[in-house]
Amino acid sequence: MGATSTDMEPTTAYLNTLRAAGGKRSGKRDLIVNVFLRQEGHLSADDLVDLIKREDQKISRATVYRTLQWMVDAGVARKVDFGEGRFRFEHSYRHPRHFHLICKSCNQSAEFLSSDIEALIEEIATARSFSARQSVVQIYGTCERCRTGRQTSAEGGTTELLFARDALRIAIATERSGFEFYTRAAKMTKDGRGRGVFRRLAAEEGEHLSKLESRYRALLAEDPQLESRPTFLFFKGAAHGLFAAGAEQLAKGVNDRQALMIGIRCERGSHRFFKRYGERFEDSEGKRIFLEFADEERAHLELLIREYRSLTSRQRGRRAARGDRRLARA
Ligand SMILES: [Zn+2]
Ligand SMILES: [Zn+2]
Repeated sequence: MGATSTDMEPTTAYLNTLRAAGGKRSGKRDLIVNVFLRQEGHLSADDLVDLIKREDQKISRATVYRTLQWMVDAGVARKVDFGEGRFRFEHSYRHPRHFHLICKSCNQSAEFLSSDIEALIEEIATARSFSARQSVVQIYGTCERCRTGRQTSAEGGTTELLFARDALRIAIATERSGFEFYTRAAKMTKDGRGRGVFRRLAAEEGEHLSKLESRYRALLAEDPQLESRPTFLFFKGAAHGLFAAGAEQLAKGVNDRQALMIGIRCERGSHRFFKRYGERFEDSEGKRIFLEFADEERAHLELLIREYRSLTSRQRGRRAARGDRRLARA
């Protein structure tokens, strides 16, 4: 069982949604729900009974068990089975779905998320025409501390914060490669208007980048050790790879139209990447970061498409004019 989190008191709005789902409410249930939501980590029913008894001796074990079951049914709690012969429970409030690494020596578990694993599961389910409701990935073994005796940075730090940190890191890396891409494109574009567009996009990416970086710093202020905590969100082939590949194509020498086309491909890929994963995540800061980023990328995509159309129609116009002159000479 993990440590009690900071002063994260569930919002009234969230409790109201539970009220709607739960029907009758009692002071006891509120207390149990509140205590449960304040915990980070994976509690057994008995762990929760102990915590509740500390708050109110009069609440019975049966009431705690019943409330726990109610929370599972209402989607407030998730039941996890770490192969110990009993279930554990984790809350889902500001706690995105994830997979687990479970140490068989100390029984501690660590959480992670991998979009590649999720994509693979989706692919398999689709190929087998299987409607997937839930997937569980658990990796059993020995944790670093049990293996080496070293104190690790794994403890502490909420999943919410780790998720936001990793989402920001991915967004920042994408923004940075986007900035480099547009800076390079602006330098090589001959068409004056197209150059202006690339410059504008480079400036925008630069501005977003500094916003994201200050958000990252604000996050670090919440947890000074955040930087050194283990990775939560694993991504292969993240969106910044798209821009890096685009920049490489630019380096080979392309014309204005091709440069715009490469930009369109990068932004479209990036928009899809952030939207697809952002939508899949449960409500969290990490999700918001991804979806906001997806919107920004879409705005860039639209701008580039407009420019591409305008450039091709201007080129068509010039070609037509040349054709007219040729006809006139003939
Ligand atoms: Zn261990
Ligand atoms: Zn968990």
